[in-house]
Amino acid sequence: MSRDVYVFAEQRDGELQKVGIELVGKARELADDLGQQVAAVLLGSGVKDKAQELIACGADKVVVVDDVMLEEYVTEPYTKALTAVINAKDPEIVLYGASSIGRDLAPRVSARIHTGLTADCTALEIDEETKLLMMTRPAFGGNIMATIVCEDFRPQMATVRPGVMKALESDASRSGEVEEFKVEFSDADMNVKVRETVKTAHKSVDITEAKILVSGGRGIGSAEKFKMLEELAGVMEGEVSSSRACVDSGWISADRQVGQTGKTVRPELYLACGISGAIQHAAGMENSDFIVAINRDEDAPIFDIADLGIVGDLNAIVPKLTEAVKAV
Ligand code: FAD
Repeated sequence: MSRDVYVFAEQRDGELQKVGIELVGKARELADDLGQQVAAVLLGSGVKDKAQELIACGADKVVVVDDVMLEEYVTEPYTKALTAVINAKDPEIVLYGASSIGRDLAPRVSARIHTGLTADCTALEIDEETKLLMMTRPAFGGNIMATIVCEDFRPQMATVRPGVMKALESDASRSGEVEEFKVEFSDADMNVKVRETVKTAHKSVDITEAKILVSGGRGIGSAEKFKMLEELAGVMEGEVSSSRACVDSGWISADRQVGQTGKTVRPELYLACGISGAIQHAAGMENSDFIVAINRDEDAPIFDIADLGIVGDLNAIVPKLTEAVKAV
């Protein structure tokens, strides 16, 4: 029995996804509390060379299932491969990103191995006394934070929101073990055929992956005014995000919402324009590296968490900022 802490290290087109790296960082902390090791599971085709990146980010070992059947994410072969690894290794904990792939894969694996799954967690810690994993997630529309434990089944499994956990600094000198794990696939495992992958023409990235976010709140005033933010985000090579007020008003799509019932982000720069800084919004962005707030109300709570505050009308400030960045 290994009793280690495992992370499903998601990759897309051969690129490791940020959430997996973040989870390796968190797993390091949990494993240290348990006196165990961190293992990452890497599934794909031609992905073995990515194992060292995971070791550099904190994994002690990487279990790689490299097979043409895993070239594209398809539920059944991925479920089969991960289930086989878990059954063979008997981990104490398995973590997945709450991405579209993680949300599809984790429940199926949990059903196959007859264990529980806590979805969409925002905090994880080991209880000092019981050594159980305390899995915390928003519940009842974000009105309460529920902490869930899985007492009787193993592994304890959770999906975790992207952006919530902090990745460790990559250290190329770290060493670890890479194990190639073989899974016997048959044609019957590929019950879905991917005929074509069409990439969206829209070049925007998920807000949890963006390094710079230009975020709009109710103070923006209308859907049209978001163009002003898009222009600023464009010259800064960032993305546009928003508060829930704008999503509720239909000014922007829900995948751009930051906060307790939206996404948790941790960009290098978060520029909050016309956002008051309600706790439900702050919960999703307060761990950004550098926060700049533009608000005409000098008492707005956003200034309590901002590194730099600009008191004034965003309609005057944002275009000037765009021109200034263009001029650099
Ligand atoms: P407001 O609070 O209305 O603030 C607008 C700000 O714009 C004000 O500070 C004003 O001074 C400023 N302003 C106005 N005009 C200008 C101008 N011309 N120039 C400069 N500044 C200007 N909210 C989220 O964002 N994300 C969530 O995930 C989320 N989840 C929630 C979950 C629950 C259970 C509940 C109850 C609420 C949740 N909310 C969430 C809503 C949250 O409580 C706030 O209502 C919301 O964040 C407010 O959005 P806002 O800051 O854009 O708007």
